[in-house]
Amino acid sequence: MNKADSERLESAMEQMGLISTPSPTNADIVVLNSCVVRQSAEDKVVGMLESLKGGKNSNPDKIIALMGCMVGPNTTSLEKRFPHVDVMMPPQQYDPLIELIGDRMDIDTEGCIGPLTANPTVAAYVPIIHGCDKFCSFCIIPYRRGREVSRTINDIVRETKLLADRGVKEITLLGQNVDSYGHDLPENIDLGDLLYAVNEIDSIERIRFLTSHPNDMSDHIIDAVANLDKVCENINLPFQAGDDEVLSRMRRGYSNSHYRKLIEKIRSQIPNVSLNTDLIVGFCGETDLQFERTLEMLREVRFDKVHAAAYSNRDGTIASRKMEDDVSLEDKKSRLKAVQELQTDIQTEINRKLYDQTMQVLVEGIKRGKAHGRNRNDKLVYVEGGEDSIGEVVNARIHKTSPWSLTGLKESVA
Ligand code: SF4
Repeated sequence: MNKADSERLESAMEQMGLISTPSPTNADIVVLNSCVVRQSAEDKVVGMLESLKGGKNSNPDKIIALMGCMVGPNTTSLEKRFPHVDVMMPPQQYDPLIELIGDRMDIDTEGCIGPLTANPTVAAYVPIIHGCDKFCSFCIIPYRRGREVSRTINDIVRETKLLADRGVKEITLLGQNVDSYGHDLPENIDLGDLLYAVNEIDSIERIRFLTSHPNDMSDHIIDAVANLDKVCENINLPFQAGDDEVLSRMRRGYSNSHYRKLIEKIRSQIPNVSLNTDLIVGFCGETDLQFERTLEMLREVRFDKVHAAAYSNRDGTIASRKMEDDVSLEDKKSRLKAVQELQTDIQTEINRKLYDQTMQVLVEGIKRGKAHGRNRNDKLVYVEGGEDSIGEVVNARIHKTSPWSLTGLKESVA
């Protein structure tokens, strides 16, 4: 979501005639888009803000802006702590910066923040619902991004068509909880209806969505993924913990048996689906035995990709107010390592089965002399090819596999 927000602001700034520079040192404007989902992310932003002080002292005209989840509704303490920051903007509230730039450059900024229009790449993000109403006990997002607000289908379709006109082939529909899209709109619609509408747009070849919640993944959404040719067979469905007691303390609202049944349903209705998940180790009170149930879930479901994080206390959350962060750092680290080792073995085995298979890859860029893109299952694939192949869908025959990526030879343009 932060990446999408940054792209949107960048697009507006480009429309105002600004160009990006590779380093903040010589930039006239530096914008930090902050994430506070974990302490390490917040520490990074603080370090960066400190390092910008010198540049601001030697060039007081330099504009420094802080946006994103670090900026809550009340900015007084941040302003005291970082007086060299000119603008503080909560997520998606870009106006103060746009107006300041407009004043400095003496230009009209009306309509600058709209759909993405400047230089999108082959694959773009389209936010469809902002905020979250779930209030999981560990999570700061509902406090920083507010309650759920869905965009209308017409608005999303209009933006996607604009992106398609500028060469975008793949869109990822984004939301903190993308499956609850539409519930706040007057029409009786959901993510399934939106997927049907976006599937109709010519020249969009692939559609993805992120991130799902097990309680809101409806049959209609599963049917849409199963039936629509452009919607990729990949679902990111966080389970967070394998133990019911931990899930209940997390306020996730489902049990591990509900989660397993949902996975069975998805797999039976969407052949070849790949599944990604998010999980937290070392949540308040998690015992060794409870953590073992998380490993069991991984062994049983065999996800294609896992985003694992050690629990990090966030001030203001329900867990920070009512629970004790009592799992030692050492235990958190060793649990994380156990997840990573197990998952590496699983991904090695899953990907090895793809050896000699031919798959469609949408080429997104060039890295170390090789073209790279993803297959429909969201796996990173390297193929031979140059800049001219960016945006092409190629058939790649896989001749090398690793837990993290695949390498293939181009057979023909798909
Ligand atoms: Fe945070 Fe996701 Fe829970 Fe919402 S559903 S509170 S974004 S973890």
